[in-house]
Amino acid sequence: MTEVYDVIVIGGGPAGYVAAIRAAQLGLKTACVEKWINKQDKPALGGTCLNVGCIPSKALLESTELYETARHNFFDLGINVGEVSLDVPKMIGRKDKVVTELTGGIEMLFKQNGIDWLQGTGQVLADKQVKVTDHKGKDTIHDTENVIIATGSVPIELSATPLEGNIVVDSAGALDWQAVPSSVCVIGAGVIGLELGSVWRRMGSEVVLLEAQDAFLPMVDKAIAKEAQRTFAKQGLDIKLSTRVMGSTVKDGKVVVRFQDAKGEHEQTFDKLIVAVGRRAFTDNICASEVNVQQDERGLFHVNEHCETNVPGIYAIGDVVRGPMLAHKGSEEGVMVAERIAGENSSMNYDVMPNVIYTHPEVAWVGKTEEQLKSEGVDYQVGSFPFAASGRAKAKGDTTGMVKIIRDKSNDRLVGAHLIGPSASELLAQSVLAMEFDATIEDIAHTIHAHPTLSEAVHEAALSADGRAIHIGNRKKRA
Ligand code: FAD
Ligand code: NAD
Repeated sequence: MTEVYDVIVIGGGPAGYVAAIRAAQLGLKTACVEKWINKQDKPALGGTCLNVGCIPSKALLESTELYETARHNFFDLGINVGEVSLDVPKMIGRKDKVVTELTGGIEMLFKQNGIDWLQGTGQVLADKQVKVTDHKGKDTIHDTENVIIATGSVPIELSATPLEGNIVVDSAGALDWQAVPSSVCVIGAGVIGLELGSVWRRMGSEVVLLEAQDAFLPMVDKAIAKEAQRTFAKQGLDIKLSTRVMGSTVKDGKVVVRFQDAKGEHEQTFDKLIVAVGRRAFTDNICASEVNVQQDERGLFHVNEHCETNVPGIYAIGDVVRGPMLAHKGSEEGVMVAERIAGENSSMNYDVMPNVIYTHPEVAWVGKTEEQLKSEGVDYQVGSFPFAASGRAKAKGDTTGMVKIIRDKSNDRLVGAHLIGPSASELLAQSVLAMEFDATIEDIAHTIHAHPTLSEAVHEAALSADGRAIHIGNRKKRA
């Protein structure tokens, strides 16, 4: 008789592989179905995040930021390096090596935790069964007490600008060009557009971003978004808001993009076009027709706060359910669900969800914006501090940006932190922790921060909420 699994996870991205590892740690007999075939034509774990998302984009952002620093900032720091040049194939090769090592690492963790990797495409059947179709088309049926669906998301395509070879690409295609295009158009000035637009701009491409909405980064605190827009424009990213893309045509190895803005219709030729207009949940055929798991009109599985679907024993996590499409959000859901299947009473705090855009400067935030608090009628107070007044930022020669923190005046609790600046992604963690612990602004103000560090900017922002920051002129009159 074949063994019955306690848990089968479908999808081995950051939501699914983390769920599988946590389930196995808790002694549950666990399998993970994953169908991904990587660039080297080999099956791979890690999903979008490790193969074509978070990790490869950050590898290229790192290389290109150092390239830009070497070209433009070393001289100011007293370092003469002669001519700095690029080796794009080597840079892409390094990125691929990082990906291969990390995805191989997940495979190793599966072995160490006794998780069966069922290679192929999974489908949830009725009666607690999962069908796996392997890469040769052979089906096997597996019995399980619980199923966790973690099949992730895929890029949204636009019918007016169909993908074509390596000229009109989605985010995955834009991670693999072997030479620097002289011009790149990006449709969508969202997170991917800004990160990948920055990568190619730093390498020397002229980058134009066409954005349909009239507001830039509407999900970001207004003051931070304004500073980001100003800074990115200064760097050379040409961000065109309120712009409607009408179509594209590939001709003689280039792409002609037609778009419309307040000034009328335009046609511009680029070497490359990246379509980065969001992602959609990948939920097609994940459940056989007799399995009635409820989905919404966008294909997202309906779940409660514990990621339970309407069918007992079937859970859904990560990009296939409500909430931001972020790797860490999916991973935490994976941990929660695995622990609940093992009988623990786990939950997660969706109100304290860190967000980062890995441009330079980085944009990072957690909690509520001023605009949200205003609309909710919350009596709040803001503290802020510019990196221009930070000794460490000055020493680094990297002073663009600020820290802005917000407290609820009724209880002094930190309800939002919004940053733009050097290492904002890392600095955000202290505010995330503070919010998770229900800390007050006074708690942050009381905490001793090492000098000279960038984290002092968060401390000073907390002090500034009471008009007592030391390194900016905010003197309060005594009552
Ligand atoms: P996925 O990572 O999409 O994984 C789903 C997996 O399921 C895939 O491996 C797929 O092959 C598999 N699968 C699907 N259907 C089946 C099936 N029927 N059978 C078997 N396997 C199946 N997020 C961040 O938090 N930080 C970042 O810096 C960041 N950068 C990004 C950069 C880019 C360019 C992109 C595209 C995304 C980025 N994201 C980032 C978003 C992040 O990648 C996703 O939110 C995250 O990967 C979602 O995790 P997931 O496990 O839900 O899905
Ligand atoms: P996004 O939602 O961040 O941005 C898409 C942008 O495209 C939006 O500004 C939207 O208004 C615009 N747009 C949509 N249709 C358009 C059209 N027809 N013409 C012009 N503009 C149009 O989505 P994304 O950048 O594709 O990223 C997808 C997801 O991946 C995001 O939800 C994000 O959560 C995740 N991601 C996260 C990170 C990170 O955490 N650093 C990095 C990359 C991606």
